Amino acid sequence: MIRIKNKVGSLVPEVLINKGKVESDKLTKSFSNGLMDFNFDSGIYGNKEVKEKLIQLQGYKCCFCEAKIGHIAYGDVEHFRPKAGWVQNDEAINKPGYYWLAYDWDNLLLSCQLCNQRHKKNYFPLIDETKRAVNHTININNESPVFINPIIDNPEDYIEFNENEPEAIKSNIRGSITIKRLGLDRKELNEHRKKTLNMIKDIFDLANAIPEYPPIKKKAAKDIVIRYYNAAQQDETEYASMLRCFFRKNPIDF
Ligand SMILES: [Zn+2]
Repeated sequence: MIRIKNKVGSLVPEVLINKGKVESDKLTKSFSNGLMDFNFDSGIYGNKEVKEKLIQLQGYKCCFCEAKIGHIAYGDVEHFRPKAGWVQNDEAINKPGYYWLAYDWDNLLLSCQLCNQRHKKNYFPLIDETKRAVNHTININNESPVFINPIIDNPEDYIEFNENEPEAIKSNIRGSITIKRLGLDRKELNEHRKKTLNMIKDIFDLANAIPEYPPIKKKAAKDIVIRYYNAAQQDETEYASMLRCFFRKNPIDF
């Protein structure tokens, strides 16, 4: 998971400004009239315009697991604060959810189906549950979400990697629960990351083992490793956070 640097301050898609605003007003009015269960229009938050903008901002990657998704599927529009209901721990779903943020650009991310549908679902734990914004009249800025928000937090301050497996830095609670609830250590993801990492480790080890003489060969090998290092610094690189961690622990000092 890495920070999505350009989301804050980006232009809000038209469909959210026009149709989204009208629908949000209807939802808040319905709540004021006693409704707790709402229908949401996926044609608005899941509109092509929204998805295309998100996928570009996220470098064609899932906002959570960093798998590339843009080339095979559009992915799911993910509500960071769940729109229909929320779960703090493992209790039954609490309603209503964050209905007033269903079409809010700041609440939308793009994730792969597994992160969204199999893992995150309606989980949205808070550090202090008493501060929860249970309806649109309460300010969400008083909340301290447990989940790392890649739009405003730097996930790399919370999660590092032991080889291909994610770990919470110094066992911090936000990192630990984010890994657990989003399934960032799930088997198939660990295996996929391992394949990517092993290839780079092999090249790194090979370049490291090449004799110093003739220097031209050593330099050529080192240049290849530097190319991979540079790619790891690019946000659009798949599993960039894992690769950056590898290079932090394995500096190119040969
Ligand atoms: Zn994912």
